[in-house]
Amino acid sequence: MSVIVFAETSDNQYKKSSLEAVSYGKEVATKLGSKVVAVSIGNAGNPESLGNYGADEVVTLHDAAFAQFSPEAYAAAFASVCKAHSGSVIIISNTYSGKSIAGRVAVLLGAGMASNVVDYPEIGDQFLVKRGVFSGKAFAYVGLNAPVKLLAITPNSVEIKQHAGTAAVSAFAADGIAASKTTIKETNRITGKIPLTEAEIVVSAGRGMKGPENWVMIEDLANAIGAATACSKPVSDMHWRPHSEHVGQTGITIKPNLYIAIGISGAIQHLAGVSSSKVIVVINKDPEAPFFKAADYGIVGDAFDVLPKLIQAAKSATAQ
Ligand SMILES: Cc1cc2nc3c(=O)[nH]c(=O)nc-3n(C[C@H](O)[C@H](O)[C@H](O)COP(=O)(O)OP(=O)(O)OC[C@H]3O[C@@H](n4cnc5c(N)ncnc54)[C@H](O)[C@@H]3O)c2cc1C
Repeated sequence: MSVIVFAETSDNQYKKSSLEAVSYGKEVATKLGSKVVAVSIGNAGNPESLGNYGADEVVTLHDAAFAQFSPEAYAAAFASVCKAHSGSVIIISNTYSGKSIAGRVAVLLGAGMASNVVDYPEIGDQFLVKRGVFSGKAFAYVGLNAPVKLLAITPNSVEIKQHAGTAAVSAFAADGIAASKTTIKETNRITGKIPLTEAEIVVSAGRGMKGPENWVMIEDLANAIGAATACSKPVSDMHWRPHSEHVGQTGITIKPNLYIAIGISGAIQHLAGVSSSKVIVVINKDPEAPFFKAADYGIVGDAFDVLPKLIQAAKSATAQ
C-alpha cells in the first residue's frame, strides 16, 4: 500500500502546491507506515528533488500524449500508476489541473473522494478529513470508508516540509492512453509575476481606486512586500485590470497568508473567493463597509492618503 501524489508542473518546474502535496503525502504515509510515490507526468526538470519533500519514489511518464495537459490522458495515466503501486491514499492538489483530473481518477479507481481538503486527516477508527465548504465559510468533516481514498487538498493549507531522503526515480509506460478530446490552440501565460493561487501575500483593490491609472500604488505596495496583485470583478469587467486578477465567486479562489483589500466593499461574491485567507487587512474610507466584518485588521481611511504611507513604511522595513 502506498500514498501516491500527483506532482503537477508548470514550465517544467514542480509547482509550490505540488511540494505541499508531497509534504502532505509524507505526513499521511508516516501515520500509515507506508511509502510515498510521487508521479511526474510530462517533462520536469528534476524529479529526484521531490525526495527533499518526502517522496520515497518518483515515477515519471513521458509520452507524446502528455506534451500538453489533457485531463483525460493525465487522469488515465495517473490512475494506472496508482493501480500498479497499490495506492491506498491518493493526493492531488486542488489546482485547476488537479480539479480537472481528481474526479476522473476517483472514478477510474473506485475511490472515495474529498475535495477542498484543508488539513491532515485524522486516522483512527475512521479516516476523517476536514473540507472547506460554502466557499470557505464553514468546514465539514467527512469520513472516507472506501479502500482507496482520494484527497484533493487546497493550496496553501499545509506547510512545505524538507526531508533529508532521496527519491528513487523510475520510468513508467502507461498503455492505451487515449488521445485528448480537446485541443489547446493558444496559451497566454502571465510571466514575471507571482501566480495568484500560489502567492503567500496578495494586494487586491476595487472600484475605490477610481481608475486604472492609480494601480501604480497597488503595484508599488505589492512589489515592496513581495505580493501578487488581485482585483474585484467590476475592476476587471471595466478592463482596469486583466481578468486573470479577478478573485471571488466567479473569479479565482485564493488562500494566501495575508490578503490586503483596498477600496473593496466586501460583497458576498467577493468574499467567496478570499475569505479563507489566513489574515485579512481591509482599507476602506467607509467604516460601515461590509468587508470590515471579515477583517482581522482594518484601516478606516482614504486609500489615497493611506497607501503612500504604507508603501513608504513597507519600503523602509524591507530595506533594513
Ligand atoms: C452572480 C455574481 C457574481 C459575482 N462575482 C464576483 C466576484 O467573483 N468577485 C467580485 O469581486 N465581485 C463579484 N460580484 C460583484 C459583487 O457583488 C460586487 O458588486 C463587487 O465585488 C463590488 O466591487 P468593489 O468592492 O470593487 O466596488 P464597490 O462596491 O463600488 O465598492 C468600492 C468600495 O471602495 C470604497 N472606497 C471608495 N473610495 C475609496 C477611497 N478613496 N479609499 C478607500 N476606500 C474607498 C467604498 O467605500 C466601497 O466600499 C458578483 C456579482 C454577482 C451578481
